[in-house]
Amino acid sequence: MTKLCADCNQVITNRENSARFCWGCSKLRPKKNGQAQAAYQVNKAVRNGILPSASTLICVDCGKPAQCYEHRDYNKPLEVEPTCKSCNTRRGPAIPLNQETNDTSSTNSSPPERLTNIS
Ligand SMILES: [Zn+2]
Ligand SMILES: [Zn+2]
Repeated sequence: MTKLCADCNQVITNRENSARFCWGCSKLRPKKNGQAQAAYQVNKAVRNGILPSASTLICVDCGKPAQCYEHRDYNKPLEVEPTCKSCNTRRGPAIPLNQETNDTSSTNSSPPERLTNIS
């Protein structure tokens, strides 16, 4: 089972099964996993008073003062937990944004398109 990097088409080695890019490309790539959008949503929520500022909270993992909000799923940008920087790093990346759904207003009632009858 070999997987090819979605960017450079080289075989991906020594990466988790879900990896879509080789190490080199994943380092070079801008973060397109939804992290930036999720962070933006959180910042906006803090500004609007929906979420308290992370610095007023404590890290849910170690009890030290929190420094940021940590995502477990970038598809749920406001489902966050306050953590310190080191716990945030230790937790690793969240579930990436599902980019297959290119329709932002999709309810799950859209009929499947039939593309098989092209003659
Ligand atoms: Zn690559
Ligand atoms: Zn911590």
